[in-house]
Parts: sequence; C-alpha cells; structure tokens
Amino acid sequence: MEHPENCAEYKGLTVNAGVEQPSSVNPYLKNRPRQKKRELTVADYVDGILKGDVTVLSRAVTLVESVRPEHQAVAQEVIEKCLPYAGNSVRVGISGVPGAGKSTSIDVFGLHILERYGGKLAVLAIDPSSERSKGSILGDKTRMEKLSVHPKSFIRPSPSAGSLGGVARKTRETIILCEAAGYDKIFVETVGVGQSETAVHSMVDFFLLIQLAGTGDELQGIKRGIMEMADGIVINKADGDNIERARLAAAQFRNALHLFPAPESGWTPQVLTYSGFYNLGVKEIWDMVYQYIGFVKENGYFVYRRNEQSKYWMYESINEQLRHSFYHNPKIEALLAGCEQQVLQGSLTSFVAAKSLLDTYFEDMKGNSV
Ligand code: GDP
Repeated sequence: MEHPENCAEYKGLTVNAGVEQPSSVNPYLKNRPRQKKRELTVADYVDGILKGDVTVLSRAVTLVESVRPEHQAVAQEVIEKCLPYAGNSVRVGISGVPGAGKSTSIDVFGLHILERYGGKLAVLAIDPSSERSKGSILGDKTRMEKLSVHPKSFIRPSPSAGSLGGVARKTRETIILCEAAGYDKIFVETVGVGQSETAVHSMVDFFLLIQLAGTGDELQGIKRGIMEMADGIVINKADGDNIERARLAAAQFRNALHLFPAPESGWTPQVLTYSGFYNLGVKEIWDMVYQYIGFVKENGYFVYRRNEQSKYWMYESINEQLRHSFYHNPKIEALLAGCEQQVLQGSLTSFVAAKSLLDTYFEDMKGNSV
C-alpha cells in the first residue's frame, strides 16, 4: 500500500516497506532436545584434570563425593590414574573455632603465598557439623572474597554427607585430584572442635591452629590433644588495643607447649601473633611454615609422615567399608532396631546383642560367598 508520507506533499521523505521483524523468541528452541551434560569417561576426567581444567576437576570432585556406587567406581579409577601425578604439594591444615578468623585469614594467607611463591592453591574443608545441617559453610567461596576470584585458586566446600571418616576420606581423595591438576598448595580448613582435627592432621604436612586472645586463662577449653597436634599456633586479631593481650596469650601458649613431649618431627612448634584483617604478621607465619617444610624434608620426617598417613588411611578405609557393609546388610537392618530396644530395656546385654548381630552377619557373608 502506498504510504501517505510518500505522496507529493511530503516529497523528500521516503518510507521503505521494511522487513519482517523476527520474533524475540527463537522458534527452533522448543524443538531442540534439552542439552544434557555429556557423560565423561575415565580418560576424559584424567585428561582434563592433568590439563588443569577446573570444570572437569569440579565434576571429578562431585563424583568423589557422590554416594552412588557407579559414580564411586568411576571416581576410584580416576583417583588411581591421577595418583602418579599427585603428592607434589605443601598441604596445610588450618583450624580454629568459629569466629577465630579462619575465612578472613585464609583469604589473606592465600593471596600472600600465591604472590610470594607462585603456583596454584586449592582450599578444601572438613566440616563435622555438615552431617547434621546437610549444608556446609566451611570452604564457602563467599567467605573468601579475594581468593574466590583469583585465577590460581580453587575453593571447594566440605563434602556434606556421611560420617566424619567418610567426609574426611573424600577430602583426602580431592587433594589427590587437585594435586594432579597442578595445585601445589593445599589448605584444608576445619572447625576446632576435636575429632575433625585428627582427620585433618592425618592428611596435611603442617597443622596450623588459629587462636584468639581471650580474657584470663587462654588455655581453657582447648583440648590438649589439639594443641599437641599443632606445628604452629597463631593468635589472630593482634591489632588495635588487642595487641598486648595477644602477646600475653602467645607467651602462655609457649609455656604450655614446653610441658608437652617433644614432637616426633624434631621441630619445635612456634607461637606467633598476627592480624588477618589488617594483614600484619602474615609473612612471618608463612616463613615459619616453609621453614618447617624445609626442615622436615631435610630430616626425612616429611616422607615418613606422608607414609604413615597412607597407612592410617588404609585402615580408615577398611573400617569404613566394613561398617558400611555391616550396617547395610539386609539381615542386620531387619534386626538392629529390635536388638537396640532389648538392650535399652535391659533384657539383653550389649555384648550378647553385638555378638548375635555379628554372628548373623558373618553367617550371611559365608552364605553369600558359596
Ligand atoms: P571464621 O568463623 O573462623 O571463619 O571467622 P571469620 O573470618 O568469619 O571472622 C570472624 C570475625 O572476626 C569477622 O567479623 C572478622 O571481620 C573478624 N576478624 C577476622 N580477622 C580479624 C583480625 O585480624 N582482626 C580483627 N580485629 N577482627 C578480625
């Protein structure tokens, strides 16, 4: 149709017919099948990890954390193939009660060592509370603002399902994958509440305990066992009018450490004060850690400790699998609640109950093997 503006009256103005506007929604979209993530083979995983591909590494860690047997089977194969490329790192456990300043410190520590020593850093976590809450906060990216956007860092929250032993095993396996992907510095973070420290201690080269200067007796409430595990104790928040108190706390820790037997490593655990928030005294902490690494590499303790840790994890793995096999046995599952009731009511002693359940289990195993 002729446009009125094209008539002689409006000469000089021309309106073209134009073209049909495409729809704002792609008409082919609904016909296209939804894209599913391509399943990766063991070789794909290993290749990706060795190339340092973070997406593949993340997917491999998810596989390690999965409880599905088919995922576990692939995960174990990937781990085995990555093992020859693992081990070449400095593993540091970092522990402290909530509020001690772990996330603030890890952010600063991470940036410091990446700048000073280069390489790549992985931050992993073991959170014993996640078993109950089903959600872990430790190792959460949002808590480490600068590190989480650093191209050389990989942050992974704690695996959340299973027993502490199971969670710890997954973190240990994740260390192997990270190392194979070229991460030569590993932090394993945990909350200072007891058992999880033992698990972290059994997978790191250096155990760093973050403490705060409180009021009065600094050593109150700190389990002796945790202090004995520490290769270094650092008192955080030594800033403002807290500096003196932090120094005093450090002196008390030093005195207390003298009372413990000398550590197997031959290293004397050190006590330092710092401020993660104001980035004061951070360099000294990492000078200490690397001095320790040099010291134990020289005297052979570094390799000895890693070998001992492998042994520990062999037994842990056996224990975990035996426990799993026992508690997931259908006959045991059927009997367990009844036995528990009888023990609670006092009609059966705990020993007799345990023995009869174990006998049932062993009988069943024998039956299954013929
Ligand atoms: P986390 O629970 O152990 O991870 O502790 P956070 O890193 O979340 O820190 C707990 C609180 O302590 C936060 O409010 C921090 O801002 C504060 N904080 C952490 N480090 C320092 C420090 O060096 N000095 C001071 N004054 N406050 C700090």
